[in-house]
Amino acid sequence: MGGGNAQKTAISRERNQAKLRAAQGGASQLGNNAKAMSIKCKICKQAFMCTQNEQDLMNHVEGKHKGKTYEDCFDPIYVAVPTTATVYKGRKVAYEQLGTDAKKGYPKDSGAAEFETKEAAYEHIMASVSYITDADSITYIES
Ligand SMILES: [Zn+2]
Repeated sequence: MGGGNAQKTAISRERNQAKLRAAQGGASQLGNNAKAMSIKCKICKQAFMCTQNEQDLMNHVEGKHKGKTYEDCFDPIYVAVPTTATVYKGRKVAYEQLGTDAKKGYPKDSGAAEFETKEAAYEHIMASVSYITDADSITYIES
């Protein structure tokens, strides 16, 4: 009676997709993705996902714009780590300091988050850690 297994498969596929969507943050992720495509090389206007590994962006700088620095092409990313009250300029230095890399990502218990501005990164720490109330209590590391 048509349906049997095929239907079960369809249902389980549906469930798996729902799980996947949930894992990816649900429907809101769609909007985020459009926004994510927001890193643009200031020199040649090539667009990159803002989730792009900083090393890939660095390769773009070195491959396409010899003699230019990362900051000539892209706005830096600031990584705020509430547990150590530290803001890192650039993912590379944050990964190094946290003993991780782009593949592993930030340690989950560090609460690390990325921001487009230093101010937003500072605010994230002040909002996350109750005893930090001013920027002087936050360590800023550039390289
Ligand atoms: Zn470029």
